[in-house]
Amino acid sequence: MHLFDALSDRLTSVFDRLSGRGVLSEKDIDEAMREVRVALLEADVALPVVRQFIDKAKERATGEAVIRSVKPADQVIKITYDGLVEMLGGDGEPEGLRLSANPPTVILMSGLQGSGKTTTAGKLALRLSKERKKVLLASLDTRRPAAMEQLAMLATQAGVDSLPIVPGQSAPDITRRALQAARLQGYDVLILDTAGRTTLDEAMMSEAAEIAKISNPSETLLVADALTGQDAVRTAKAFHERLPLTGLVLTRADGDGRGGAALSMRAVTGLPIKFLGVSEKIDGLDAFDAHRVAGRILG
Ligand code: GDP
Repeated sequence: MHLFDALSDRLTSVFDRLSGRGVLSEKDIDEAMREVRVALLEADVALPVVRQFIDKAKERATGEAVIRSVKPADQVIKITYDGLVEMLGGDGEPEGLRLSANPPTVILMSGLQGSGKTTTAGKLALRLSKERKKVLLASLDTRRPAAMEQLAMLATQAGVDSLPIVPGQSAPDITRRALQAARLQGYDVLILDTAGRTTLDEAMMSEAAEIAKISNPSETLLVADALTGQDAVRTAKAFHERLPLTGLVLTRADGDGRGGAALSMRAVTGLPIKFLGVSEKIDGLDAFDAHRVAGRILG
């Protein structure tokens, strides 16, 4: 995961300077928080998210208890850490996937073309199959036969089944066929890979919404490319208006862009980040853990 390296370097140097001070005045803390603010903005964290973070952190950090404590700098670091964890979705255990008590569980994958949606469908299939779930993958990308074949190849790599391709069927028809196959053949999980487009597009959205209606998914995940910065945040907001999204997957966390958009995602959309894509390989998917990410940023 390199996405947060630059931010991590910046924050580490702010806090190193602060630790060198020993006793801290309110002014020292103000100054450090100003630098944290600039670091977050330069990392591309959305402005309202930064504002809220800094207001809260400042309030906590300028309390008497911090200033009078033996190691005030450590307290400020702890407050920043807690603020980052909160920004990333709070204290709970990583949420993982919600599986239906009534199999087959349907997982609907949505996102722009190129976001890593199909690859992520394969990664999830591998993950679930390692948990001994019987998984069926089905591609609904009727306009791109290559995408259908790509999903079939990923299924083979993951050691799971994919729905046989029948040329000429519409996406809703494939969905119905996939649901029936999953029910009749005793699959635990059906992963539906909807068609993406390169830009936000009404036809893509309404097709995905229709598929969601037909298939009643337990999880509707939006896959977004973390390297596209605030565009990824805008994409997530637009999809969330049209689809009953239950979570986010951020891909290319192994790339070294600015990680701030990823940090803003949860606060802006209210949706939990469930997984991070960390390589092109089929096992390159990590369960998202707010503590782990905050720890890396301040590490
Ligand atoms: P789709 O059009 O959204 O289905 O995108 P694909 O799944 O075809 O992925 C597009 C490209 O991104 C492929 O070359 C993938 O191997 C690559 N990719 C997907 N996820 C990740 C990731 O987490 N990290 C890296 N480095 N590459 C990824």
